Amino acid sequence: MDCDVAIIGCGPAGIQAAIHAARRKVSVVLIGKPGNSAMYGARIENYFGIPGAMNGDMILKNGMSQAKIFGCKILEKNIISASNEGPSFMLTTEDDEDIHAKSVIIATGISRKELNVPGEKTLYGKGVSFCAVCDCGFYRGKTVLIIGDETEAAVSAELMTRYASKVYWVYRTINASQNVVVKASNAGVEMINSDVKSIIGSEKVESVILEDGSTIQTDGVFIELGAKSSADIAMDLDVIPRTDDTIKVDDGCATDVPGVFACGDVTGKPWQVARAVGQGCVAGTSAAEYVKGLQQ
Ligand SMILES: Cc1cc2nc3c(=O)[nH]c(=O)nc-3n(C[C@H](O)[C@H](O)[C@H](O)COP(=O)(O)OP(=O)(O)OC[C@H]3O[C@@H](n4cnc5c(N)ncnc54)[C@H](O)[C@@H]3O)c2cc1C
Repeated sequence: MDCDVAIIGCGPAGIQAAIHAARRKVSVVLIGKPGNSAMYGARIENYFGIPGAMNGDMILKNGMSQAKIFGCKILEKNIISASNEGPSFMLTTEDDEDIHAKSVIIATGISRKELNVPGEKTLYGKGVSFCAVCDCGFYRGKTVLIIGDETEAAVSAELMTRYASKVYWVYRTINASQNVVVKASNAGVEMINSDVKSIIGSEKVESVILEDGSTIQTDGVFIELGAKSSADIAMDLDVIPRTDDTIKVDDGCATDVPGVFACGDVTGKPWQVARAVGQGCVAGTSAAEYVKGLQQ
């Protein structure tokens, strides 16, 4: 299949990029599985114009319908390899379909690091969360427990003191800046040097068990271990990711490789829908303009 702009990733960044590129009358193919978006299964309560909380999968579904109306073709598949072939790019799907594109937008998001303890997967969305900024509002007046050694964990712990009535922070070896650790401690966070061995609950999180066998009652567990992005595809396209696997872009969401753009969580923090959508708009517009420039 040939197209002007191929977008890898069917989350808010990729879908918004598809809408903005397609409206500039270039041919657009959006490739990715919406069910694998970080937004799928999330309840979004801090996105402009949506009062209360709305299910992320509904927003994704509506966005994909909009993209189709503007002429975008959507393939709900994974890209397993990519190559930079001089003035154009080739992407290959998991079922061996080749897509030739004049420009590529990488909107592949990030995958969060997991703790790999019992209860983590079964209680995900039932009190287990990977994003304090996203879910803090659901824990007003409740008890929460943050797990992690890095700055993300310290910042999340301090943030949660503004919502929860009690905040624990379980760490192994603190690897965060002293400043944020002091802030968390001054805000009343109770710091515990230990490991969480399992998360307990049936319908929702009830407690965690630490390595010494003790139990802490809690309503929420925030796993803040940092994240790893899917940057392999970027390297296939000659884009060199940063050491944390994120992709550097300029104000137009262009990477260092002409014709390759990136947007959303894969370009860095904050990992939020609003940022993903804003960058998607910029990347879609830039890629369409790039293709039009080739034709002149
Ligand atoms: C539990 C939870 C709650 C959240 N709550 C909020 C909230 O309340 N407010 C908020 O603003 N944000 C929230 N977020 C964060 C928000 O969901 C993300 O910031 C946002 O989804 C990022 O959009 P994105 O398009 O960059 O990446 P994603 O939405 O992660 O989409 C990435 C897409 O790329 C695809 N992909 C990856 N690799 C490939 C490949 N090789 N081939 C094809 N496709 C590929 C994936 O399948 C997916 O479709 C939450 C996240 C989680 C996990």
